[in-house]
Amino acid sequence: MSKKVLIAGGGGFIAGELARVHLERGNQVVVADIKPTNQWYQLHEQAVNHSVNLEDKSACYSLVEGCDEVYNLACNMGGMGFIENNKSLCMLSVLINTHMLMAAKDCGAEKYFYSSSACVYPDYRQTETDVVALKESDAYPAMPEDGYGWEKLFSERLCKNFEEEFGYASKVFRFHNVYGPNGTWDGGREKAPAAMCRKVIEAIESGNHEIEIWGDGEQTRSFMYIDDCITGIDKLMESNFTDPLNCGRSELVTINELLNIVEKIAGVELKRNYNLNAPQGVRGRNSDNELIKSTLGWEPEIDLATGMEKTYHWIKEQYNRRKAGEHVAI
Ligand code: NAD
Repeated sequence: MSKKVLIAGGGGFIAGELARVHLERGNQVVVADIKPTNQWYQLHEQAVNHSVNLEDKSACYSLVEGCDEVYNLACNMGGMGFIENNKSLCMLSVLINTHMLMAAKDCGAEKYFYSSSACVYPDYRQTETDVVALKESDAYPAMPEDGYGWEKLFSERLCKNFEEEFGYASKVFRFHNVYGPNGTWDGGREKAPAAMCRKVIEAIESGNHEIEIWGDGEQTRSFMYIDDCITGIDKLMESNFTDPLNCGRSELVTINELLNIVEKIAGVELKRNYNLNAPQGVRGRNSDNELIKSTLGWEPEIDLATGMEKTYHWIKEQYNRRKAGEHVAI
């Protein structure tokens, strides 16, 4: 049966892909994003597309009215370079989820999805490269990433409070570093995998075979490919689980190892210049997947080399199109 779904933040990376998948299934899709539509990574002609500020309560109510499902992935965010320098802007996204959740409850949307983040986990559990993977319960006692992490944790709590006091339950994923085609790759908001691909392409293009790495390159992370992210959202929406749940790969790599993968794809070896003063985030982080495996019977499965190959080639194509004078979303 066809459903009507609202995809908030659909001019962005994850929600743009989610909108594509829902359209393929024959659902009625409404997409909303603050950016003008010529800056969206994916603009789907078959969807009803709105360029609108979702911090605005009345905008949320008018878009949610009549929708069966609401997916809130709208958020003012970016990689470490952005979130470490724009804490207030990150915090203000609290208005989006607050108004969207109120609208979903009041308008009777059957299901509500909120995209939280691994940045809710406390700094004090992420001080070593040799990490203990983070379990959902590790979020407390709370000491999340300043700005962005607090906004995510507050919004998660709000979702839970709505369930406990109003009987309106949400589905909440804590995403761990999602990457893939059709996401931010330049301009200051890009994250490590996309930044790494672009810098390697720039080094090859310029003939100056050097690359700047933020930090000493030994910080550890896990990265989840976009297709796994979308599969996970589907599975969560079909489940009865209503507590925040990790959604991330458990394949841990250092930033140096991530660069090794990109260099292999590109067929180069670059001289690495380590910038110890650049934003680096926590020292190490991985996703503990016991809970997602036991609740959804699944965990993200696409390996990093496979996902990075597709990401690298997509970014190279965007880079070349921009170089040729075409307008491309960055
Ligand atoms: P993205 O930046 O590509 O997409 C977010 C979109 O929200 C953007 O297109 C932006 O324009 C839009 N937006 C911002 N403020 C808005 C407003 N006031 N009104 C309407 N739209 C607004 O980010 P993404 O990577 O697709 O992330 C989607 C969600 O997943 C976000 O909530 C993010 O915090 C969360 N998340 C992402 C990652 C990741 O690695 N990509 C990791 C953890 C959590």
